[in-house]
Amino acid sequence: MPRLLAGDRRALARAITLVESGRADHRALALDLAEGVARAGRQALRIGLSGTPGVGKSSFIEAFGLHLTGQGLKVAVLAVDPSSARSGGSILGDKTRMERLSRAPLAFIRPSPSQSHLGGVARRTREAVALCEGAGFDVVIVETVGVGQSETLVAEMVDVFLLLLAPAGGDELQGVKRGIMEMADLILVNKADGDLLAAATRTRADYAGALRLLRKRPQDPEGFPRAMCVSAAEGRGLDQVWADVRVLNGWRQDQGLFAANRARQARHWFEEEVREGLLARLTADRTVRAELERLGQAVEAGLSPSAAAARMLHRLAGGQG
Ligand code: GDP
Repeated sequence: MPRLLAGDRRALARAITLVESGRADHRALALDLAEGVARAGRQALRIGLSGTPGVGKSSFIEAFGLHLTGQGLKVAVLAVDPSSARSGGSILGDKTRMERLSRAPLAFIRPSPSQSHLGGVARRTREAVALCEGAGFDVVIVETVGVGQSETLVAEMVDVFLLLLAPAGGDELQGVKRGIMEMADLILVNKADGDLLAAATRTRADYAGALRLLRKRPQDPEGFPRAMCVSAAEGRGLDQVWADVRVLNGWRQDQGLFAANRARQARHWFEEEVREGLLARLTADRTVRAELERLGQAVEAGLSPSAAAARMLHRLAGGQG
């Protein structure tokens, strides 16, 4: 613990391995660690970054991360990769990614663990974020592939959420779901360089227009959320991204919104974990599993799902029949 709090990266890596472990004795140690870092009371700026494979997430994080470490900031990068749950391998865990950043003395990069379900990934990532804060990192970037529910999870554990997009070909807008746009604080159109510059400029304008149509959020100062062009390859726009993140964060700090959001998130994760724990405990019980199976079959054979659920809940509450 003292070495972790002193910022020792090997101690941090070992601590994260503990929170990723499924073993009960590791779990107990991980909870001790979590309490220890919570007592230390350190806060990093947590930045979420989402984007579909190929938009340039790792290129952007490497360039942006080096931009920050160049200013003397300590930067940690964690990844949430739901695909690793399915395949057992991890796209985000590829060792060749972010090679230069991984060699920077002020940076720490942790690939995604392979986990069996997204909920588990969320908890472990959240705990890893807290460990990075305890180790004194200034900025923690949580990267996620823009598929499925992983953005929603990541948005619930960060202070600022960035959405990375590639230039769209022709007039076609990319299939970015409204819900994801609503989560974004900054939309970054990457690859604004060379032949793609014109398309990137058009795409940025399209998204700037789309953002204006969204409902005003209470957590935004004037001018946010906004869309801008960046080039990870040429390092273009990185200083602007950092300046905007700081403006946004500074405003939210001043308004008390930063603390309020962290408190809301903490509560959300507390409730989420209780829910998951209850479910896990219930389904570990053989008679409960048998009853779920029996009622499940009855539903398939025509019993109303609501009636079956009511019966199941009645049973769980200690009722008979
Ligand atoms: P990820 O899958 O989202 O992490 O994307 P990568 O960072 O691996 O990048 C995917 C591809 O896009 C690679 O071939 C990169 O070289 C390329 N790329 C990334 N950023 C830029 C950029 O700013 N400009 C250009 N032209 N290509 C880029």
